[in-house]
Amino acid sequence: MRITTPRWAPGTGATRAVALEVLIHGPLSRSEVARRLDLSPGSLTRLSTPLLDMGVLVDAGEQIDGKVGRPVQLLDIVPGSKRFIGMKLTADTVLGVTTDLRGNVLASQSRALPGRQPERVADTIAELATALSAGTPEVTAIGVGIGGLVDEHGFVRSAPFLEWSDVPLGQLIEARAGIPAIVANDLAAYTEYEHWFGAGSGLDRFAVVTLGAGIGFGLLIHDEIVTNDEYGIGLIGHWPLDPFGPVCSEGHRGCAKAVLTDTAISLAVSQAIGRPTSYAEALDLAMAEEPAARRVVDDAGRSLGRLLAAIANLTLPERVVIGGEGVRLAEVAAEAIAEGVRSHRDARTRPIPLTIRSGENIEWCRGAAVVAIQAFVLGSRDED
Ligand SMILES: [Zn+2]
Repeated sequence: MRITTPRWAPGTGATRAVALEVLIHGPLSRSEVARRLDLSPGSLTRLSTPLLDMGVLVDAGEQIDGKVGRPVQLLDIVPGSKRFIGMKLTADTVLGVTTDLRGNVLASQSRALPGRQPERVADTIAELATALSAGTPEVTAIGVGIGGLVDEHGFVRSAPFLEWSDVPLGQLIEARAGIPAIVANDLAAYTEYEHWFGAGSGLDRFAVVTLGAGIGFGLLIHDEIVTNDEYGIGLIGHWPLDPFGPVCSEGHRGCAKAVLTDTAISLAVSQAIGRPTSYAEALDLAMAEEPAARRVVDDAGRSLGRLLAAIANLTLPERVVIGGEGVRLAEVAAEAIAEGVRSHRDARTRPIPLTIRSGENIEWCRGAAVVAIQAFVLGSRDED
């Protein structure tokens, strides 16, 4: 038996649209909410009054409006009125955060996994959830991000890094934690954070690229993440980038996995300098202008530039967010990346606006929390 996620008070329809606009973009003046949703002042009053009565919206003080030169009343939600947990599952650790209703991180903790058996992993997730819940208001839902194929029922179809197939993870967590659990592909969750509360908020089209043990790609178009039941395979991983690059496990020469992952870069630098180096050290050597390391890292940078150019040429994003634990490549190889972009874009194009994230694991957890927040705020799709 699954536990039903509680629903946000505004329910459905136009009232929810008002609450949602203020949640995602607030605090906002009444006139700004009306303009954004194309409502008359009278309609907005009719829709916002019950929300104010329910306490979903609050008057959040005044702000001087530059255009009219007088104070305007702001509407806001109360972010601290709800608590959510977001977790990221790696091969040996589970990291977790508590957040408010806007995905702001309030606390974080992690636990080592005792093994990869699904029941033991679910035990550890439930323990971590208990620890994170201690002393906080009641937690509304847990979101768990996992690198793999996940269906809408929290069923993990495959997660190669844990050697899992067909694991009912959402159900296993709920049976132990007693809190609704939403399991999602980690990259989709990360993209949803940027969509609602991050660099993509308010944009019509944006893309996310993550660097690290794998290469991730998320795309949002017209307020919707582009996804299907194959999304969690990590399809960008075998995108061809360097015709002279090394070969991946599937036999592709110079695909994203073969040239851009942290393993690919550390391996190439290790071979070039004749001793084993970690990813961090490979980037340090490039920064110190060690010639062989610099050449490998710049090759990877040009490949990343080529990938960004392809994304920009095919999907016309207004912004591209680069994150993931390997994101330091974007800084160390910045010039090579720019060169890779330029050589694969029309000369008349504008530079691609980029946001480079810190790459901390907490960003993945925050994404997972946002998936739980969305389940609370939007409900499941079949309810609409
Ligand atoms: Zn490949």
